Amino acid sequence: MKCIYCREDTKVTNSRLQKTRNQVWRRRHCQQCGADFTTLEKPDFLTALTVTHKKYYTPFSRDKLFLSVYESVKHRKTALSDATALTDTIVGKLYPLIQSGSLTQDQIVTIASEALHHFDKAAASHYNAYHPIK
Ligand SMILES: [Zn+2]
Repeated sequence: MKCIYCREDTKVTNSRLQKTRNQVWRRRHCQQCGADFTTLEKPDFLTALTVTHKKYYTPFSRDKLFLSVYESVKHRKTALSDATALTDTIVGKLYPLIQSGSLTQDQIVTIASEALHHFDKAAASHYNAYHPIK
């Protein structure tokens, strides 16, 4: 990978598998300008994972999930970081449920609802009002 500051080649100086999130964290160093930065390798769910809802299939969108979580926690001062962490947690919990590259809408809503309930009951109520489980 090229340096994000000077576009020269970089070397990996540290690498860790994050098992619960099924992603690889790498620290990179640029020998040209001395910059260090981090990269994450993770599955591209948008192209690999579909969501089934009744008879319809849509690509899984982490952004869509993030927005629904953010809407539910936006009464909090730390809404942005809370929604980011919660979305990571939800995606991590969804990962073992994937079958043949697909999840159901109800699985996503159930897991998101549980994660929000543990975190903030008001957020869970807000989420459930907009995402009823059928
Ligand atoms: Zn550089």
